Amino acid sequence: MSARVPIVEFRNVSKTFNPGTPQEFTALKDVTFCIEDKPDYGEFIALVGPSGCGKSTVMNLIHGFSDVFPPTTGEVLVKGAVPTGPGRDRGMIFQRYSSFPHRTTLHNVTFGLEINQRELDLSRSAMEDLAAQWLAKVGLKGHERKYPHQLSGGQQQRLAIARTLVLKPPIILMDEPFSALDEPTRYEMQQLIMELWHDIETTVFLVTHSLSEAVFLGDRVWVFTPAPGRIGKEFTDIIPHTRGADPIKVQESSQFKQAVAEVTEVFRALESCKA
Ligand code: ADP
Repeated sequence: MSARVPIVEFRNVSKTFNPGTPQEFTALKDVTFCIEDKPDYGEFIALVGPSGCGKSTVMNLIHGFSDVFPPTTGEVLVKGAVPTGPGRDRGMIFQRYSSFPHRTTLHNVTFGLEINQRELDLSRSAMEDLAAQWLAKVGLKGHERKYPHQLSGGQQQRLAIARTLVLKPPIILMDEPFSALDEPTRYEMQQLIMELWHDIETTVFLVTHSLSEAVFLGDRVWVFTPAPGRIGKEFTDIIPHTRGADPIKVQESSQFKQAVAEVTEVFRALESCKA
């Protein structure tokens, strides 16, 4: 039986912006990793590191954004192939609310289904039913006819999550998705993401500036060096991940605090030794 192709692989990836100009800047240098495509289980990878160390550049390379892709050297592979641009297999959730202001909540969620209609072969009512189911899963039942400006910040991020997950992408890229939210809302979102992630078994890359969030959510936590960024240290299974666990209770435990202290120590040590 042939081995499964890794879901995302970086082989000695470096990225230099504006090469040969006074603005030349190497954001990433020799980043290598391989995320296996584990059947019925997607890994959750949390990226932390000092600002400007290339974390978003990693996400943008996976996503295939044209202003960042291709890498300057090395290879980025998604399911064994070089991505030719953004695709339905990679969903992205940003810090800023990214919904369409002129569409209702329901029709924001049907949008991705509509543009993939030919492939998905769903009727209008089937799309609306599916969108309503996802709105219910993210806690927005009863808000289907509202417009994004009528939703709170937390509700708008719930909508962004529903819009992305309705397409069941095998890879989800989240770039500081909760940093604009207040702390109680942030905890709610962490719990929601954990529950939904166990349901859809997808590979998630999360950039966060919160080390506790990285430890709470990540199967792997990657601590990046300052630019040019590389993975300075990888923590795996730093705490046990239990489905439906209450983020506040978990984060109050001494085991959790110890794990965050370890990551913090490594973060500080890497930050202080510039490459
Ligand atoms: P992080 O997410 O870790 O804060 P980024 O990946 O956003 O870091 O950026 C790393 C460095 O690369 C920064 O100095 C940033 O200004 C630069 N950079 C990112 N994208 C571009 C781009 N499209 N053009 C030029 N420079 C960029």
